[in-house]
Amino acid sequence: MARTDAIVLGGGVVGTSVALQLAKRGLSVALVERAGLGEQTSFGNAGIIEGNTVFPPTFPADPRRLLRIALKRASEANYHLSFLPKVLPWLLAFRAASQPKRLIETAHLIRPLFASAVPEHEALLQEAGASQYLRKTGWLKVFRHETTFQGLRRELDVAAEMGLPLRTLDTAGAQALEPSLAPVFPHAVFWPEAASVSNPFRVTLAYASRLRALGGVTLSGDARTLHRKAQGWRVETDQGGVDAPEVVIALGPWAGDFIAQFGLRLPFAVKRGYHRHFRGKGNAGLARPVLDADVGYCITPMEMGIRMTTGVEFAARDAAPTPDQFERIVPRARELFPLGERADDKTWLGARPCFPDSRPVIGHAPGQSGMWLAIGHAHWGLTLGPSTGRLIADMMTAQTPFIDPAPYRAERFL
Ligand SMILES: Cc1cc2nc3c(=O)[nH]c(=O)nc-3n(C[C@H](O)[C@H](O)[C@H](O)COP(=O)(O)OP(=O)(O)OC[C@H]3O[C@@H](n4cnc5c(N)ncnc54)[C@H](O)[C@@H]3O)c2cc1C
Repeated sequence: MARTDAIVLGGGVVGTSVALQLAKRGLSVALVERAGLGEQTSFGNAGIIEGNTVFPPTFPADPRRLLRIALKRASEANYHLSFLPKVLPWLLAFRAASQPKRLIETAHLIRPLFASAVPEHEALLQEAGASQYLRKTGWLKVFRHETTFQGLRRELDVAAEMGLPLRTLDTAGAQALEPSLAPVFPHAVFWPEAASVSNPFRVTLAYASRLRALGGVTLSGDARTLHRKAQGWRVETDQGGVDAPEVVIALGPWAGDFIAQFGLRLPFAVKRGYHRHFRGKGNAGLARPVLDADVGYCITPMEMGIRMTTGVEFAARDAAPTPDQFERIVPRARELFPLGERADDKTWLGARPCFPDSRPVIGHAPGQSGMWLAIGHAHWGLTLGPSTGRLIADMMTAQTPFIDPAPYRAERFL
């Protein structure tokens, strides 16, 4: 029977970052994963470290957009009809959180955590000898419709008030950054301080290697074996039981079911998303991720080719994949960028773990002494993994948290 200071359940980018930040404080840590480290949601994201985030994604305010989604004519969103009754309460809460006043509140609440995202990754990547994956080239959002661009005004004003650097560009300005883009958009916004990685999976593996170098262990086991012992918690692994006074739950899209077993019912849902890789035609390439905002997909240069990631799909986490969005997206993407042939033969599916206010839960699990939660990172699990780890590590080691943890408390839902 092994005894450690802390068990971390879930080896995605969030759990691995938490384990690493704890090990850096000198704690002995066991990171327990049932599949391969970094092979689930953290594998296939768009690779953007979105330190620039101001407003989270919103429920559509425009009835015409909502109608297009309802009629399944929208490229940015999809849904399974049979799943709607189940997710309806969550969607209503998401709509409430999308009201203009709430968005401005959210922007201010989340800024300190997001501000730390790029520097925290940079520090961990350097320590892990993995800086080669990091690109500090920002990200570019292009806007095909005047109305969408004008609709950004409030968000850009809030960004300016917060002192966030951004550049609004015309077509030529955007093409100066990304010469392969065709002039199918009149406006773009460049966020120079966002960063991206060329292989999110390798980043998680690099953090796991660093964890092991600091004495942490990575074990294969099922989180559902977690149970209370007199002096804390025990989880069963392939190498036997592991005991610890503290456990951190970082189970990504599986967290909702898991915490419900401990009587914690939080408004948790998943927004599914897909990716495919393509080659660029001829010499066409990208230096940074590009969001085609009106069509609702992202293209990011990765080691495997140009990764195209979709917007959201509301469906049960484990329902069969329905990558219908690509049929609408790919022809539109070809208008913007000279996509060549597919660079893979599979479509990847992942599930963003989300709370309706778009803020993760980072902190104590209510009513469960010695249990901590690092869950619900939605569109920003890669972005916020290292910062989440730092915040949890501050709290678990009774240091003054580097930012105010109050916006991330689970109690906001109880
Ligand atoms: C299409 C798409 C694009 C995205 N783009 C971006 C982006 O550009 N930037 C960004 O910041 N974020 C992005 N995201 C979101 C980001 O990928 C997620 O927020 C993040 O990966 C969540 O990390 P996690 O560690 O919480 O979850 P996961 O990576 O899913 O890790 C959870 C781990 O728990 C393990 N697990 C589950 N159950 C058990 C069990 N019973 N026992 C043991 N282990 C278990 C799983 O195997 C898994 O490895 C995107 C997501 C999608 C789907």
